[in-house]
Amino acid sequence: MSDLKKQLYKELEIKNALFVEGVNVNPMIFQNLDLGGKYQEQVHVLFEMDHHPHVGIDFPVGFTSPGGLKLAFRWDTRSPYAIHYDDGKYYLTHNGQELFPTEFLKRPKYYNLKTSDGAEMSQVATYNREGAIFVAYSNECSLKEKGQDCLYCNINATKDTYAEKQGIFWKSPKQIGETAAAAYNEGARHITISGGFIPERREVDYYIDVAEAIREHTGLADFNGTGVIGAPLDLDVIDRYKEAGYRTIAMNIEIWDKNIFKSICPGKEAQCGGWDHWRMALEYAVEVFGHGRVRSNIVAGIEPKQSTLEGIEYLAAKGVACFAGAWCPNPGSALEGHRSPEPEWHFDLARKVAAIFRKAGFTYDQLYDCSAAPTTLCHDIYKIEDELLPVFQEKTA
Ligand code: SF4
Repeated sequence: MSDLKKQLYKELEIKNALFVEGVNVNPMIFQNLDLGGKYQEQVHVLFEMDHHPHVGIDFPVGFTSPGGLKLAFRWDTRSPYAIHYDDGKYYLTHNGQELFPTEFLKRPKYYNLKTSDGAEMSQVATYNREGAIFVAYSNECSLKEKGQDCLYCNINATKDTYAEKQGIFWKSPKQIGETAAAAYNEGARHITISGGFIPERREVDYYIDVAEAIREHTGLADFNGTGVIGAPLDLDVIDRYKEAGYRTIAMNIEIWDKNIFKSICPGKEAQCGGWDHWRMALEYAVEVFGHGRVRSNIVAGIEPKQSTLEGIEYLAAKGVACFAGAWCPNPGSALEGHRSPEPEWHFDLARKVAAIFRKAGFTYDQLYDCSAAPTTLCHDIYKIEDELLPVFQEKTA
């Protein structure tokens, strides 16, 4: 392995540890940062991923490592990692030892724009890097009314904490279409449409209207969209997403062990035909969308690693790319205060997942097209192994 790849893997380990442990910071240091101007601020459209709520305090979305990996900012005052500011420079430390200077992520231009009805585009679609934008059409989940929220999820608590303060509400198809057009004009090339369950499970009608609006405003027949949905009881509904123009579809199964699934995701169990039906829906979706065009996710760290890997391997063999993002015991979720496994546990899992994806023949472009953010550890492993990062070109230039 080249020295550059070794360095990048070290940076990836740090990225993974920060993802799990968060980063400590005195919020006052960001008074020196042009947040909301040159640099992109967090907008809480769906989940609070910082480990403490922070209404009224703005944080950056993340920063880059020297090799060009993108690291998410998640505030945790207990973390051994910290960001300091000194003499005009920000830098990352671990137990007080400097690791590297931090360059915060830039804000896209469309964040300065408003839709024709006056909504801030930054609240309609967040920028998830490398041309990927993310829309949470609703910022609440109707499972709450039934007392069936997924136990790791804090969508409804996030809404209670931030929605009014940050002006985040449901988005109309027109707002989404206009925002997508502005972002695509600036170089965006993938859009994810997501959100909590809506009453009566009427997602499909909404998604079709959204797809129409995106096509109309961007002028693109194939706008490279991913619809993130709950497994529909009637599998024919999946065909309608394809007909509406989505290139990929995502249904997050969350837990592979079906008994643990029942207790952790009571609403997904009760409203979506149960775990077996969820798995069947994923397999059916591959028939409709194709190999590598269906995505799922497991919340990694709630069930044993072996079970998660079995699920990822099973699904990959069927053509489903199932990611395994590290569980963050989010504030406001039923599991707040619990702990995710050690960073090393997650890093080992990510390497194994990437190897399973390779064996299944998934290409980087397929992983890009089906993901909400092309910056997961698996994406990064592909970028390192296939030398897709700009730093490889710089070294050979
Ligand atoms: S279905 Fe579960 S994970 Fe999805 S928004 Fe509702 S509670 Fe959260």
